[in-house]
Amino acid sequence: MFRIAVGGFCSRLPCLLLRTRGLSATAAIPVPNQEPDILYNKLFINNEWHDAVSKRTFPTINPATGEIICQVAEGDKADVDKAVKAARQAFELGSPWRRMDASHRGVLMNRLADLMERDRMHLATLETLDNGKPYTVAYAVDLDLTIKCLRYYAGWADKCHGKTIPIDGDYFCYTRHEPVGVCGQIIPWNFPLLMQAWKLGPALATGNVVVMKVAEQTPLSALHVASLIKEAGFPPGVVNIIPGMGPTAGAAISSHMLVDKVAFTGSTEVGMLIQQAAGSSNLKKVTLELGGKSPNIILSDADMELAVEQSHFALFFNQGQCCCAGSRTFVQEDIYREFVDRSIERAKQRVVGNPFDFKTEQGPQVDEEQFKKILGYISAGKKEGAQLLHGGGVAADRGYFIQPTVFGDVKDDMTIASEEIFGPVMSILKFKSIEEVIKRANNSIYGLAAAVFTKDLDKANYIANGVRAGTVWINCYDVLGAQAPFGGYKSSGSGRELGEYGLEAYTEVKTVTTKVFQKNS
Ligand code: ADP
Repeated sequence: MFRIAVGGFCSRLPCLLLRTRGLSATAAIPVPNQEPDILYNKLFINNEWHDAVSKRTFPTINPATGEIICQVAEGDKADVDKAVKAARQAFELGSPWRRMDASHRGVLMNRLADLMERDRMHLATLETLDNGKPYTVAYAVDLDLTIKCLRYYAGWADKCHGKTIPIDGDYFCYTRHEPVGVCGQIIPWNFPLLMQAWKLGPALATGNVVVMKVAEQTPLSALHVASLIKEAGFPPGVVNIIPGMGPTAGAAISSHMLVDKVAFTGSTEVGMLIQQAAGSSNLKKVTLELGGKSPNIILSDADMELAVEQSHFALFFNQGQCCCAGSRTFVQEDIYREFVDRSIERAKQRVVGNPFDFKTEQGPQVDEEQFKKILGYISAGKKEGAQLLHGGGVAADRGYFIQPTVFGDVKDDMTIASEEIFGPVMSILKFKSIEEVIKRANNSIYGLAAAVFTKDLDKANYIANGVRAGTVWINCYDVLGAQAPFGGYKSSGSGRELGEYGLEAYTEVKTVTTKVFQKNS
């Protein structure tokens, strides 16, 4: 057992860990076996394990070494068809799932959460092996948020109800909130377990059935969860999980005529393809959680230590692979120099290395493609005249490690200030006035998140109201809870996930009107 020591390793950990999300500062994180048995690498359809119809497999890679972990069955259109058929059958009127008490759906979801608690170390290990994120973070943050998300939505299972409505005339009118049906869910690789829970939670609480495609970079933890779904007692066909590629398995879901809704988290480019596929097939409902270029605004009266640490966390957390990363750090001119110097110092201290090492803050990027893309952005930053203040290169001789990188004097029209880098590259920009920074913050196709650091809550509220973003953090960053909605303005997506709002996308509202006959006797 390893104890997070306050004042040691822990004192440098981000707020998410410090607030300890279910683990107190002295809670124990068990030391994992770094070479766990991989028990599940096939398609999960109808509560059974299947090879792909094509018999094809693909390798999943450990990004810390570049080596193959194992082969995984590669689902494509034929497998999606099989999964949709299973899901439709599970959704038939009168099926065990449709007849199940809503409260019992909640029981099953809590059971799933219990099983994930039981297997927490193994799940965190798979997450680190397949994704590269530090094991301590996978265990203490990802698993914690994932389990809490399932429990939160388990609680909603029997609380999602309609209204009685006083329409004119002698009628009794009420609404029912019914499941949408077969929900296609396509998830990314940056938080494999958490994104799975964000999708499964509201879908299952409201009685839907699911065909989920997991990201090709990180299929392993989601497949272990599939085994737990069966163990928890969900009827066959309620959840089906297909590892596979985007343009084949993913596209088959978004264009499927018998899929009623598609929920997607990933890049804006692919989000556009998904919306098009939905529109040109059966007009399935679409919710999208896409990219961002979130402004993080530091006013001159901010608590400097807090602002530096939180801005570092806002950008570098999860190797910079967060859709809501604070990737445009706007700093007011009179504190610019000090903020930059302290941010460089903080980046220098960042511990990059083996993600299973308990001291590691930053592991490898998820794969070679992302690794090269990020190095390309760093080159563009240098070429376009941003000042490279720290890092800028590869951090190890194998695996996909990148040095924590800080650019100063970044201008709004530079590529690194306008495109989503999705890596450990901080861009610091200078501003003079609040009006100016709001305008510049909004000058983006994205609108996912924003933050402001100041001791003046009037200024904070003014900025919070002025920025066009789905989430605004004041004097904190990346504070996400299952209870609060998350999603984007503009090209950052449509719809909201989490919280009560997150249920809306998974229910159809049915209006039922009954004639009330007058009885005179
Ligand atoms: P990233 O660029 O961060 O890898 P993507 O948007 O490419 O993010 O991927 C997110 C998810 O979308 C993954 O599961 C991926 O396989 C899937 N995907 C990629 N292309 C398509 C597509 N054309 N249709 C449906 N899903 C896709």
